[in-house]
Amino acid sequence: MPCHITYTSQEVHDTLKEGFDRSPMFNGRIQGLGPRYCPSIEDKINRFSDKDRHQLFVEPEGWDTCEIYVNGFSSSLPEDVQYKALKKVPGFENMKMFRPGYAIEYDYFPPTQLNMNLETKLVKNLFFAGQINGTTGYEEAACQGLMAGLNAHLSIHDAEPFILKRSDAYIGVLIDDLVNKGTNEPYRMFTSRAEYRILLRQDNADIRLTPLAHKLGMLNMEQRLERVQAKIENANHIERFFEDTSVDPIHINTFLESIDSSQIKQKIKAKKY
Ligand SMILES: Cc1cc2nc3c(=O)[nH]c(=O)nc-3n(C[C@H](O)[C@H](O)[C@H](O)COP(=O)(O)OP(=O)(O)OC[C@H]3O[C@@H](n4cnc5c(N)ncnc54)[C@H](O)[C@@H]3O)c2cc1C
Repeated sequence: MPCHITYTSQEVHDTLKEGFDRSPMFNGRIQGLGPRYCPSIEDKINRFSDKDRHQLFVEPEGWDTCEIYVNGFSSSLPEDVQYKALKKVPGFENMKMFRPGYAIEYDYFPPTQLNMNLETKLVKNLFFAGQINGTTGYEEAACQGLMAGLNAHLSIHDAEPFILKRSDAYIGVLIDDLVNKGTNEPYRMFTSRAEYRILLRQDNADIRLTPLAHKLGMLNMEQRLERVQAKIENANHIERFFEDTSVDPIHINTFLESIDSSQIKQKIKAKKY
């Protein structure tokens, strides 16, 4: 379905500002921090006051409705202010508003009260995962659910907890950050938080994690481990080939020249080149 783009304007921003003193987020009635990764329109015009417009995606809600989702205009300003400002957005002059935007506020339990297996320190066999631990995001919630679920299972079977290291997986970074540093704003997992991000790649996720999943009995097919083992063996084999094989200038230089690469002067191991 066609999806359109429009922009707010200085006039729209001025109209929205009229409602700031009635906004619980601005007049101090709510003290929580908004998620900095999906700010409301009032947050945007406040925090990025040098911008005279913001992009809005005009998304149809479905085939059988004339409703439009105004993506980029999330707001908790008073209804009359939202209505007045929306009318001033180019293209929206004749719009009708079905319902106003709103904000939600939620609390969380400081994740420093958790053990590394996501069990609460205070209540044995109570495991916490997701937003309750101060995170935001689908993947953040999903990965904690996985870890809390399997650790709850291990716990009631008196087995050792399953803890991923920071060098094993992003999940390890996330849980280590939460438990050891805590968070005072909605936590998101960024690659920049991981000091091992060069190692934590999707192309080696199977090598890093499949053996661990197998040990836990979480693989649905024995073949998956076999395939990963074959991949590791093949990679080692190729590496050994490059370590053991020498290349001779007589054989290789014509080819190197043809691909505009520097030529070699003497025999060297392929791996060195
Ligand atoms: C409007 C909006 C847009 C978002 N967009 C994105 C996005 O684009 N990408 C992204 O990654 N994240 C997004 N998020 C964040 C993401 O949705 C949440 O961080 C994530 O879903 C949290 O998952 P959760 O399982 O921790 O909590 P929830 O999904 O909130 O699950 C908690 C569950 O507990 C239930 N519950 C509460 N109290 C009780 C009780 N007493 N008894 C029993 N059940 C109870 C609730 O009904 C709910 O089903 C968005 C959030 C919002 C609000």
